Amino acid sequence: MVEKTLSLVKPDGVAGNHIGEILNLYEKEGLKIVALKMIKINKEFARQHYIDLKDKPFYQELVDFISSGPLVAMILEGEDAVNTVRRVNGATDPKEAAEGTIRNKYAKGKTDNTVHGSDSVEHAKREISMWFPEYLDSYLS
Ligand code: UDP
Ligand code: MG
Repeated sequence: MVEKTLSLVKPDGVAGNHIGEILNLYEKEGLKIVALKMIKINKEFARQHYIDLKDKPFYQELVDFISSGPLVAMILEGEDAVNTVRRVNGATDPKEAAEGTIRNKYAKGKTDNTVHGSDSVEHAKREISMWFPEYLDSYLS
């Protein structure tokens, strides 16, 4: 199934100069970048993005981190895009991330783990509508 998913290069990935490498890894998997922007989000937006994790002990730390500096948000499209991005990103904890994955290469910790990828087609739709409302009507359908 051709799907769309949301990926973020988190503030640590931007600060570490890894944007180009990360885009390259996605493109080499055959994914198309169909929307792309760099922004710094505020805490309210961060809380909404991670709302499903609001009861976790690390929620506040995560909100502070993801809103701490510029990040790169993109919509990726392709066959099995949701799972492809999560495979290329690697496990949440970089200590458990497989060799060659983005988190294995670049992530420093469990919070500052360099990338985000939507975890289902349903969540991808919600995240795309949050992060790219400007494209919804005309472009994404
Ligand atoms: N996270 C954290 N501490 C943890 C687990 C997760 O700070 O113990 C952060 C981390 O940045 C992760 C995000 O919360 O990417 C979302 O967690 P999730 O379990 O959804 O991991 P993901 O889907 O990003 O691999
Ligand atoms: Mg997740």
